[in-house]
Amino acid sequence: MSEELPLIAAIEAGGTKFVCAVGTGPHDLRDVTRIPTTTPEETLAGVTRFLSTAKSKYGSFAAIGIGSFGPIDLDPKSETYGFITTTPKPGWQFTNIVPKLKERYHVPVAWDTDVNAAVLGEYLWGAGQDTDPLIYITVGTGVGGGVLINGQLVHGLLHPEIGHLLVPPPQNSSAIQQACHCPFHKSCVEGYVSGTALASRWGVKADALPPDHPAWEEVADVMAHALMNLTLSISPKRIILGGGVMSQEQILPLIRGQLKRLNNGYLRVSELSRNIDDFIVAPGLGARSGLLGALALGKYELDRHAGRSADSSVA
Ligand code: ADP
Ligand code: ZN
Repeated sequence: MSEELPLIAAIEAGGTKFVCAVGTGPHDLRDVTRIPTTTPEETLAGVTRFLSTAKSKYGSFAAIGIGSFGPIDLDPKSETYGFITTTPKPGWQFTNIVPKLKERYHVPVAWDTDVNAAVLGEYLWGAGQDTDPLIYITVGTGVGGGVLINGQLVHGLLHPEIGHLLVPPPQNSSAIQQACHCPFHKSCVEGYVSGTALASRWGVKADALPPDHPAWEEVADVMAHALMNLTLSISPKRIILGGGVMSQEQILPLIRGQLKRLNNGYLRVSELSRNIDDFIVAPGLGARSGLLGALALGKYELDRHAGRSADSSVA
């Protein structure tokens, strides 16, 4: 059956590694390959090597989908559409990704943030199926979030930057470094709870903090403020929390508890009371949300192209 589905090349472009694969869906993901993010030249050479090998092995892919670390240019009218733009990552400012791949492979290339890709993947195949509006947040090296509303990924001035939502500083913190770790903001989510911020604030790597460490109550406090604000502003049907830091078993129950407390009975929905376990959830696709999301982006782009050529043949 999978032979009938178009083959898509998927690229999850991350700050530490690019993960590439080709496939048709979650049950057919081939040749998953990790390429370290070093210099743009070296990493992108690795990507094209992967794509060309996959092409000779499986035949042409119909589209390429890319979910990328950012900020990225998503404005099709811009001269730098398809570029990673003002990233603090050394050497990666204004890196041409999409135009280069289009020129080389002559197929539609879909392009979005890594977290918008992940929310789409979860919506199609994971913990957010038929659940709209849907939000996906990752708390890992950094914090980011993607938003899907009415079946569409949200773009606007740029794209959602949920990781930098402003929140109150955690109360009575005993962290060694109490200041917010973000170079831009005095008190934002990423500055308190990213893996990088946790390591700086508590002096040990986030994965080495024991489950009963006070850091986790603070992570829950900060996250619950962000989730409350998102719930009030976007009214999502579900919020998915992924990334290394959220893989601690105790953290989702702590966040749910604090979110209920912050809501204080105001939004009278079961999702913020007895059904909160179905409202704040772990990713259904595990660590594959981003990669499958990139595949989903490629699939959507292909459908869009097919729709367009069907329209033009009617006209
Ligand atoms: P990335 O964000 O780089 O794509 P991850 O989502 O794996 O990758 O996040 C890496 C961060 O998550 C690191 O800061 C690491 O310390 C932290 N991390 C990874 N596993 C755990 C864990 N089990 N508990 C707490 N923190 C973790
Ligand atoms: Zn910030």
